[in-house]
Order: sequence, then C-alpha cells, then structure tokens
Amino acid sequence: MKVFYDKDADFNIISDKIITIVGYGSQGHAHAANLKDSGAKNVNVALKNNSSSVSKAKEAGFNVISIEEAAKESDILMLATPDEIQGKLYKEHIHSSLKTGAALAFAHGLNIHYGLIDPRDDIDVFMIAPKGPGHTVRSEYIKGGGVPSLISVFQNKSGNAFDVALAYGSGLGAGRSGMIETTFREECETDLFGEQVVLCGGLTELITAGYETLVEAGYAPEMAYFECLHEVKLIVDLLYEGGIANMRYSISNTAEYGDYVSGKRIINNETRKEMKKILSDIQSGKFTKDWMMECQVNQPNFKAMRNKAKNHGIEVVGKKLRDMMPWISKNKLVDTKKN
Ligand code: NAP
Ligand code: MG
Repeated sequence: MKVFYDKDADFNIISDKIITIVGYGSQGHAHAANLKDSGAKNVNVALKNNSSSVSKAKEAGFNVISIEEAAKESDILMLATPDEIQGKLYKEHIHSSLKTGAALAFAHGLNIHYGLIDPRDDIDVFMIAPKGPGHTVRSEYIKGGGVPSLISVFQNKSGNAFDVALAYGSGLGAGRSGMIETTFREECETDLFGEQVVLCGGLTELITAGYETLVEAGYAPEMAYFECLHEVKLIVDLLYEGGIANMRYSISNTAEYGDYVSGKRIINNETRKEMKKILSDIQSGKFTKDWMMECQVNQPNFKAMRNKAKNHGIEVVGKKLRDMMPWISKNKLVDTKKN
C-alpha cells in the first residue's frame, strides 16, 4: 500500500487553476475553504440558484456560480453534493459542457464504481475521499492537521491526473496525515461497509439499544444517556490516540474484564454473519440499487426513519443535558447557519 504526503505533492500545479466545488455542505465547505487557505487563487462554489447554501458560501467570501457555468469554465470540478443526485447533475449539466482535459473530482467512489456516472473519455477523473466528516476536514486543517484521505485516478486523459489529485489532496490538508492510494471500488465498498456496520449504523444502534435497555429496566434516562452516549466520546478519544490497548490501560480492571467477557456476547457469530451479508449486498450493488430506488420516489422511508429517530427519547434527554454543559457546544464543528 502506498501512502503519499505533502512532500510528494506540488500544490503549485493547481494553485492558478479554476477549481469549482459543486455543493457547499459538509465536504463542500471544507474543500473550498481549505484549498483557498492553501493558496488556490480561483476557488468557486457552484450551486442551484435557489439553494439555501448560496448565502453561506457568499458570506464565507466565495464566488458562487451556476453549475452550467462551472462545467464550462472549471479546470477541476469537485462533485461535493449528495451522492444520490450526482448522476442526474452530471448528465444534465456537466457531461456535454466540461472542457476537454478538465478534471472531474469525487470525494467518494460510489457514482463511478456503480456506473451511475459514465464520464466522457476526454477528461481526467480522480478521487480524494477524506476518511472523516467534512466538518472535521475543516477543523483539523485549521489546527494544522488533516484528515487522512484515499486517493485514486479512474481516468487519466491528461497524463498527470495523479499529480493533480495529489496537489488537490495536499491543499485539502490530507497530505499532512497521508493520502493512501486505492481504487474507486475499494474505497467505495469499504466506506459503505464501515459506515453501515461500525461507524454509523453499528454504533448508533448499539448506543440506542443500550439506552433503551436501561430505561426499560427503570433506570433514569439521564443516567442511561451519560452511560451509553456521552461516555462514548471519552472512550473513543482513548481509542483514537493509542488504539484498543491504550483505552483498556485507562479503564478499570473491572471494566476491562467485562469488556472481554461481555463484548463477545453482543457482537456474536450471528452479528458477524450479518456483517458478511451486508458486505455482500454492498459488493453486489444491491445496497446502492435499493438506495437509488428510494431516491427516485423522493425518499419516503429515508425521511420517515430520520424523523422517527430525531424524536427518540435519547435525543430529548440529550438536548436537556447538553444545555447544562455549554462548553460542549462552544466551537461546535457543525454550525448549520454557516456550514
Ligand atoms: P451534503 O453535505 O449533503 O451536500 C449538501 C450540499 O449539496 C448543499 O450545499 C446542497 O445545497 C448541495 N446540493 C444539493 N443538491 C444540489 C444540486 N442539485 N445541485 C447543486 N448543489 C446541490 O454532502 P456531503 O455529505 O458533503 O457529501 C458530498 C460528497 O462527499 C459525497 O460524494 C459523499 O459521499 C462524500 N463524502 C462525504 C463525507 C461527509 O463527511 N459527509 C465524508 C466523505 C465523503 P442546498 O442548500 O441547495 O441543499
Ligand atoms: Mg464514509
């Protein structure tokens, strides 16, 4: 496996290029701001006219243009909109207008890997996929760090697509922590697996089920919240800085013994079998097909699940408790008015 750093990249090769970030959400705002702070002179943000993000991008000092304009003028066009709309966006506004030799960039391999976008032959196609949320891509950059990212070239018309990708990743801050060379397929399948099984799906279900078990047994919701949600962060900080043994060094022997004997009862053979099934649904394209069908009918199940989860008791009690800890929301990574 090859890992590239700032020393392997030459940011100057893109600093004068017209770089447009389509979308100003989680990744979009971070890409635009980091590239600009790294010295890119022509960073634009492309949005729909009626987009609620226009004012955020303008307030942050970016030139906001239409997607049609962006497609015609940009040397590097980063698609930082939700994955589910990129296919349509590409077909309707980008495919026929992109300049020959321009680079189409992705922050995730899904649309290319599953064939939702079939890029024109005369352009470069690369990916810089940060291994972290967009808000963290920005906050780490500001601290002088960076979120490690996966890098890959799908199409190399110009002959220097990989150097352009390295330069882009370096501008994003990824070259400070490492840009790992991969393929669109590997990035996409491992990313979907990680977020479904461990990082998002696995973790939120674990937290919620633990919370519900305690509350149903008659313990106070406040107690259950601290135990099952708040403390996750404290444990994850220890994992993040030094791995699992580092975390186990810090917890009590009682906690560590319980970790060994009970952890395996929660993640058991059944769970592992299910993990394999989820992986094969990802590999076969079934997951993406189902998700795209859900999007075609305007996401009714997705929206219903989102709404239901938002009103769960753990969110209600959590809000009340976090209001008592104002330092948590000071310098919050997510400020929906700005990013
Ligand atoms: P996001 O936050 O959901 O993107 C929202 C932005 O896209 C908003 O500015 C939104 O504008 C704009 N948008 C929506 N529809 C649009 C359209 N039809 N035309 C133009 N702009 C439109 O997206 P994201 O989560 O950052 O994901 C962007 C890409 O990064 C995806 O490929 C994703 O897989 C990848 N990625 C994301 C993360 C992450 O942390 N979220 C991590 C790694 C990779 P409005 O205000 O008009 O809605
Ligand atoms: Mg991910």
